[in-house]
Amino acid sequence: MIRVIFLGPPGAGKGTQAAVLSQNFGVPHISTGDILRSSVAAQTALGKKAESYMNAGELVPDDLILDLIRERLAQDDAAKGWILDGFPRNVSQANFLDKLLAEIAQPCECVLNLEVPDNVLISRLLARGRKDDSEDVIRNRLEVYRQKTEPLIEFFRNRQQLVSINGNQTMDAVASDLKQILQA
Ligand code: AMP
Repeated sequence: MIRVIFLGPPGAGKGTQAAVLSQNFGVPHISTGDILRSSVAAQTALGKKAESYMNAGELVPDDLILDLIRERLAQDDAAKGWILDGFPRNVSQANFLDKLLAEIAQPCECVLNLEVPDNVLISRLLARGRKDDSEDVIRNRLEVYRQKTEPLIEFFRNRQQLVSINGNQTMDAVASDLKQILQA
């Protein structure tokens, strides 16, 4: 059973490492970015509302995200654990999650914070070439991360939930660090 949150800037490797853990532990990898991208591709009501924010590298408004998370965590497969990737993204989402997890009696074990220097992030994102990975949008996403998401490092550190990992290593080296932390 694991219930963990991945924190870290865009390009830190959250999605990659969350997928590895999901495989190893047999629990769902819940990525709000992936859910939103599928919604955009399917042009659902949510996708249509979210698309312009995503293309600009801005956060999608909380009211579009909160119900989505509540519903996702209520699904059967999440009863045996989960790995959150890309949520929470700001302090109000973190407060919402706190209340939700208390309500459904699913405490989060720890918050895994992947640390990677900016220059490495930018070159990784440029190499990835997703639609929101153009240079201007990347810069905005990093700025939004600094302003809105980075304060969560203190938020979770104050609750003794934060574990920081050097994300500036090979994928396998990061995965092996994570394995050690989660088995300890
Ligand atoms: P990601 O795949 O996590 O990098 O997310 C891609 C984009 O989806 C972000 O730049 C935001 O526009 C949007 N997004 C993903 N998760 C959230 C969230 N928790 N809150 C608001 N917007 C989000």
